[in-house]
Amino acid sequence: MVDCIERFSLMQEGQLGRPERFFPLFSSVNSLAGVGPKATVGFKNLGVTRVRDLLFFLPLGGIKRLKEKDLESKYLPSTITIEITVKSYRQTKRSNPIRVLVTSSKFKLELVFFHARLDWIKSVLPIDEKRVISGKVEVFSTGLQMVHPDYIVKSSDINLIPDFEPIYSLSKGITQKFMIKTIAQALDKNIPFQEWIHKSILQKFRWPDFSSALSMVHNPKHIREIRPNSLARERLAFDELFAQQISLALARMHFRRTRGVSIVGSGFLIKKLREKLAFTLTSAQEEAISEINGDLGSKLRMNRLLQGDVGSGKTIVALISMLTVVEFGGQAALLAPTEILAKQHYEAITTITNELNISVTLLTGRDKGKLRGSKLAEIRSGSAQIIIGTHALFQESVGYQNLVFAVIDEQHRFGVQQRMNLVKKGINVDVLVMTATPIPRSLSLTYYGDMDISILYEKPENRKPVKTAVMSESKIEGIFDRLEISLNDGRRVYWVCPLIEDSEVLRLTSAELRRRSLKERFPQQNIGLIHGQMSSEDKDATMHKFSTGEINLLVSTTVIEVGVDVPSASIMIVEAAERFGLAQLHQLRGRVGRGTEQSSCILIYSGKLAKTSKARLEILRDTEDGFEISEADLRIRGAGDVLGLQQSGLPKFLIADLATQNHLLEIARDDSRKLLKSDPRLITTRGAAVRDLLYLMDMQGSFAFIQVG
Ligand code: ADP
Ligand code: MG
Repeated sequence: MVDCIERFSLMQEGQLGRPERFFPLFSSVNSLAGVGPKATVGFKNLGVTRVRDLLFFLPLGGIKRLKEKDLESKYLPSTITIEITVKSYRQTKRSNPIRVLVTSSKFKLELVFFHARLDWIKSVLPIDEKRVISGKVEVFSTGLQMVHPDYIVKSSDINLIPDFEPIYSLSKGITQKFMIKTIAQALDKNIPFQEWIHKSILQKFRWPDFSSALSMVHNPKHIREIRPNSLARERLAFDELFAQQISLALARMHFRRTRGVSIVGSGFLIKKLREKLAFTLTSAQEEAISEINGDLGSKLRMNRLLQGDVGSGKTIVALISMLTVVEFGGQAALLAPTEILAKQHYEAITTITNELNISVTLLTGRDKGKLRGSKLAEIRSGSAQIIIGTHALFQESVGYQNLVFAVIDEQHRFGVQQRMNLVKKGINVDVLVMTATPIPRSLSLTYYGDMDISILYEKPENRKPVKTAVMSESKIEGIFDRLEISLNDGRRVYWVCPLIEDSEVLRLTSAELRRRSLKERFPQQNIGLIHGQMSSEDKDATMHKFSTGEINLLVSTTVIEVGVDVPSASIMIVEAAERFGLAQLHQLRGRVGRGTEQSSCILIYSGKLAKTSKARLEILRDTEDGFEISEADLRIRGAGDVLGLQQSGLPKFLIADLATQNHLLEIARDDSRKLLKSDPRLITTRGAAVRDLLYLMDMQGSFAFIQVG
């Protein structure tokens, strides 16, 4: 299975036949004049190693240099360009700065130079002569001051000083001026490009061509031209998104190649199951099932994502799809990230299917010896029809008779290789991945652009909303009091400890401390602790005790068991909730509200919260719609942080901002699919231009997906 992460590493790989005319852009920055070893290191720290990287290193802001005649003192402090007459020099000690008094028609100004030599000062600023200087003027009680003017020129050269200048982020050894000069050299390479954007899109947005856009973003005339919605920036953002969508579309084409078999069932098992089912499926479930069945029946390979919030009922959708496979005579595998989840699926599925007379097998790492041997034999002979399990499912020793369908639950918990290993157990296996992480539409286009997506957009009607409160840590005594009443009432409670970055040890300590303090406070209660360093047997045992009620208050480190179902748990308490992402909190809250009781969730924040952080938590209080929450999370935190995708190795965009430019993403997606439909091998004139774009964006690896012959 071709997966996002794998794709992106492919795309970043190698020089793969890059056309020769691009060589100047892809040579090292030290090929540019003035870039020595020190500057090379400085650039590297900014993520810039090649000339091409400089082109896409966009300014963060800009400064306007006010001309003195436009200047009113109320604008100070600001950056100004001004003609002055040099009056006198002053330096009290050799180690002290040199101060130069200058005057203009409006101002008296002191220029300050640290570590400068007096003879140099005398040569650039001779007494009684006029010069034009430009720099930042600051107001002190002693008067106006400018430290190290950015420019000092003869009055006739005033045009050498720009009115507006871009500001770049810098690092050691790289000054603004040097950056500007070096980028100008990169722009001078001036390689001609054929237009890769479709004419109609270009005209609609009135975008400049690629080279002009680059030149405009680096030579802004006004702060407006720095903003993401400036025409030049928007165009470059589109280029970036378009390149990415093209490579996703290529991957999709590659994956969906014909496999020649369609999987169609008699409907017999499904009919029986539906008759037995205690509830009616939601329309969203029905739609997803028919989309998946459509894929199974098609001769193209399935690569579908089933997205549905916690509790939206993904399992039954997966089961019904697997039954089609069983009716057809093939094997279906359901892969879960943990033993607890695998077991839970096994129990749920065997309960629902117990009258269907089909064979469901559970295989986990815990199966050893003879039992394991007999399970492996069932799987190999094909007598096991639905196989549920963990990583054990794709170990080398496991062979399948006729695996045609793989369902992968909580797909983000699996590495690419692991998923590949399962899919390789059959031939052209259809793949359905499931995720409970609601992803904003804009992000799913980016991350799953090559998959078809089914969304469970509604929850079963019998769900009771979870009451959510946002409370300060200072009210913790009150929370304890209420908790005591609930515990005595027989309620089961999760207590989640603060998210501590990168340290399982610290996490454990904080959870251990909280368990102890709760034990002191509630000596009568049975308090358990679950954390990431426990063996899976111990975790299982603890979760089991919690589900039977032997433990009624479960302290845990962060999101250890996404997807765990203990319907009788009805209270979720999260400490230092402000440290969590909204999507994460939403996941945690999804652990309750699964049973018949009214459930509640208390989000405790520590200390004094900034208004925005509180507003963030209040979003959770106000809605339970995972998509709404993830959209809000995206707006507030930006794409990289949503769902912790930062760590996931998925692509980051240099220019495009998904929070504000997702309208471009949809256009890029539609147009890339359209283009590849008419020119799947990118051989037309526009196709060749698009290849250039992919080279420029370092995505030439996806050419590997273009079918040859
Ligand atoms: P998730 O999408 O989080 O994996 P599950 O598949 O575990 O959700 O479903 C959660 C619970 O809802 C299960 O107990 C399941 O039997 C039940 N369920 C699923 N679909 C429906 C429905 N249409 N009506 C009522 N209950 C349902
Ligand atoms: Mg689930």
